[in-house]
Amino acid sequence: MSDTVTIIGAGINGLVAAADLAARGRKVQVFERGPAPGGAVRTEELTLPGFRHDVAAMNLSMFAGSGFMAKHGAEMAQHGLEFVPIDRPFAQALEPGDYLGVTKDLDETLATFHSEADKEAWKALMAGFPSRVGAVGGLLGTPMKRGPLLKFLWKQWRALGAAGLVDTAQFLLTSPRTWLTETFEDPRIHAALSSWGMHLDFAPDIAGGAIFPYLEAMGGHFMGMVIGKGGAATVTDALVRMIEAHGGTVTCDAEVTAIRHSAGKVTGVTLNGETVPSGTVLAGLAPVHMARLTGATGNAGFDVGLKDYQYAPGTMMIHLALDAPVPWIAKQMNDFAYVHVGRSIDGAAKVYAEAMAGLLPEAPLLVVGQPTRFDPSRAPEGKHTLWVQVRMVPGRIRGDAARQITATDWDGARTAMADRALDLIEEQAPGFRATILGRHDVSPLDLEAGNPNLVGGDQVCGSHHMRQNFLYRPVRGFADGTTPISGLHMIGAAVWPGAGTGAGSGFFKAQEL
Ligand SMILES: Cc1cc2nc3c(=O)[nH]c(=O)nc-3n(C[C@H](O)[C@H](O)[C@H](O)COP(=O)(O)OP(=O)(O)OC[C@H]3O[C@@H](n4cnc5c(N)ncnc54)[C@H](O)[C@@H]3O)c2cc1C
Repeated sequence: MSDTVTIIGAGINGLVAAADLAARGRKVQVFERGPAPGGAVRTEELTLPGFRHDVAAMNLSMFAGSGFMAKHGAEMAQHGLEFVPIDRPFAQALEPGDYLGVTKDLDETLATFHSEADKEAWKALMAGFPSRVGAVGGLLGTPMKRGPLLKFLWKQWRALGAAGLVDTAQFLLTSPRTWLTETFEDPRIHAALSSWGMHLDFAPDIAGGAIFPYLEAMGGHFMGMVIGKGGAATVTDALVRMIEAHGGTVTCDAEVTAIRHSAGKVTGVTLNGETVPSGTVLAGLAPVHMARLTGATGNAGFDVGLKDYQYAPGTMMIHLALDAPVPWIAKQMNDFAYVHVGRSIDGAAKVYAEAMAGLLPEAPLLVVGQPTRFDPSRAPEGKHTLWVQVRMVPGRIRGDAARQITATDWDGARTAMADRALDLIEEQAPGFRATILGRHDVSPLDLEAGNPNLVGGDQVCGSHHMRQNFLYRPVRGFADGTTPISGLHMIGAAVWPGAGTGAGSGFFKAQEL
């Protein structure tokens, strides 16, 4: 049996696992079905020549702060990785002309708050962050295995005491709305921070969602945001170089069609009809595809868990080439990496309910990324790119909440839905449409066609609700990425700690191996 570690999928988790293993002298081979590595971390000229767009992930803060970077950051820099740090991470476009912005500068941030009580509440959160981040953020950096988990709980118990630990557990169960309305009185802040839950499927009223608005608000304030110089592909390119420098290989246009196993042990993978023997396989696959490629494992709990795994609502992406920056009425919004467009927390709750019911939302929440304001290298001189994420849309359309779009398939609804999203920006920035030079609309099913892990266009490869998070991601008993088949492991966004560019599951697994 070959001692080469075989990795299915050149997503960020697969590449990180391969790079870490290769750097420690293991032989690795990565097989990627698409024409280029990176999965959701790629940069391409999607609209016009010279305009480089992040196809999916733009915000690389999670990668920059990852365990992998703490260990290999210096080597990644040698392989060409370059970040662009941003001091003004996010703003919320509220009623046209009104905005709230979180920056690394306290006075600047508080200048957009209207209530004195809320300014004090923000300062109190900042004061508590350094002690709380160990418990809340540290959990995301802990593998869901008995040893590391007990060590983590012991450490937190010593730091916080029993009462502190129980309070932290309660916070982890809290919904965004409960936390936000208890903490702040201004509905503008509720809208601004609840938007972060919508990057996952933590709509305002979902238990367990408060942690994301909290971490993003405080993390944004203390650390800002990081994007890739020239595009997110700087990460993927450096990872591939690092793997190759250590003797590993990354092969594209190489779809694995089956995972071979016998007598409870993995024996290899099928590629182009041939078996590639391997005693260790890391599969960066969504559970539905893991089940398809593996077949029955003999462990009913695992097999049924993969089948019952739930996916979250979908995303639509709109990539734009612009002649000028967005002419926001609130001009200050030009200086933020992300502008969330959404007027209220109730609006966000409504969008989620509509998407879950299969309806095209009447007023989706938009995440408008303005990378070229900070990294002009991504576009010809004086021109800009815009990265617009439409949250959330159904993968399968049952109707339109606004009763205007009649198509119930994405080929028919794509342009109209994208137009609806662009109209929301136009309301906040009259004249915006006239600046558009090129446009590329991506429906949730287009996302899935490009990467089958994005089931129904679900950008986070599976709901992160409590029943499917922590010890339960992807399946209870297998949250550390083990499977019932010896030598076969799961990595990727479907495995704890879930989605994002932090590549936790790939890094944890490489450490374990
Ligand atoms: C539109 C969008 C925007 C996002 N924005 C952000 C952001 O700004 N910041 C952030 O932190 N996160 C963001 N995310 C989430 C984050 O990018 C993903 O959670 C993360 O990159 C997923 O990594 P992964 O390792 O699970 O692999 P994936 O990115 O899912 O890649 C898996 C790879 O495996 C390949 N593959 C699948 N099946 C096979 C097979 N049978 N054989 C061979 N290869 C196969 C696929 O082609 C793909 O290349 C975004 C995601 C999307 C989709």
